[in-house]
Amino acid sequence: MAQSSDNVVGVDNTFRKKFDKEEYLQRAREREEKETEGKKSKSRGPPVQRKPLKQRDYQVDLESRLGKTQVVTPIAPLSQQAGYFCRVCECVVKDSANYLDHINGKKHQRALGMSMRVERASLEQVQQRFESLKKRKDTGSFTVQDFDERLLKQQQEEEERKRQRREKKKEKKKEKAAEDEPEIDPDVAAMMGFGGFGSSKK
Ligand SMILES: [Zn+2]
Repeated sequence: MAQSSDNVVGVDNTFRKKFDKEEYLQRAREREEKETEGKKSKSRGPPVQRKPLKQRDYQVDLESRLGKTQVVTPIAPLSQQAGYFCRVCECVVKDSANYLDHINGKKHQRALGMSMRVERASLEQVQQRFESLKKRKDTGSFTVQDFDERLLKQQQEEEERKRQRREKKKEKKKEKAAEDEPEIDPDVAAMMGFGGFGSSKK
């Protein structure tokens, strides 16, 4: 066939679809790069700088509901179910020990925007802390002896108060008894089933 031999070498004269290998290689590389990037961001994410741990600025409330009775149903909102409810993580922990573990735990601190790292204290901070502790020691000198003395004093005061109350009651009783039944002793009256409000009252 004369026609085919006339064609210049290197020119494509077939109708079959041809692939530009170079182009597709390039595309494949781009796709691979994208995929590995995606994997990286999924597995680790961009490094998040969280704040170091901070001291709690509130008292942990473990006992406010102690000894109280509460109706609990499984369909109640989480915050009203049995156990300790964490507002931050919206979860219920069943007892106080686990609740403490939870609020000191990694997941909870992370939700609060803190890492588990502790800030490294500088020399100045340490010195300041020492100073403040010294001052506290000077002003509030407190010994076991002090404690015992205070306890004793309190007990004595309590005794005194009780005694006064008892005396007052006795006086009142006497007065009432004198008014109502002058001849009969109030105790005897009570035993005999006598007496209205005055003698039966204690
Ligand atoms: Zn939590």
